[in-house]
Amino acid sequence: MWVWCRCGRRHFGHYGAAGLVLIDDAGRVLLAHRSEHVHFAGTWSFPGGALEQGETPADGALRELYEEIGVPATAVTVVTTVAGMDHEVWRYTYVLGRLNTQWTDVPFAPNSETEAVAWLTPDELDTVPLHPDLAIDLPKLRSALATVIGTPPFPATLAERKQKDTAGSAVVAGD
Ligand SMILES: [Zn+2]
Repeated sequence: MWVWCRCGRRHFGHYGAAGLVLIDDAGRVLLAHRSEHVHFAGTWSFPGGALEQGETPADGALRELYEEIGVPATAVTVVTTVAGMDHEVWRYTYVLGRLNTQWTDVPFAPNSETEAVAWLTPDELDTVPLHPDLAIDLPKLRSALATVIGTPPFPATLAERKQKDTAGSAVVAGD
């Protein structure tokens, strides 16, 4: 459902929209390449879309993440939200969430709206053609990401995880 807005554009979603900014333990975020079936085809954006009636931005963004990419809500810990475009009759919310550490291999199952996915660092976000709204919000999103990624508890580095896995299997072997 489109909402006509005084900004001269139309926005999708009667109750606003939200996107899920999924952060992995290397401090990268998941972007989706929009397929030819959707608005602004060929650009990259976060999985997300229009909210349903009564749905919070976090609930809607997690639902869309599952619908578009196949990653279940149980794989994500929501950390914070960042207000994107706000035109009163329509607003967009970024929902920042960490990928839970047990999900190192995300089972991507993109639907027809998504052509591909990629993990990019916040610095790399402007190296791909972004959805125009995301390009506008990028500076404020980067500063929020810097806070989230730089805030304890820091996720284990890959080397630390390997060490822990090795230690874990040694214990099992000792039994
Ligand atoms: Zn507007």
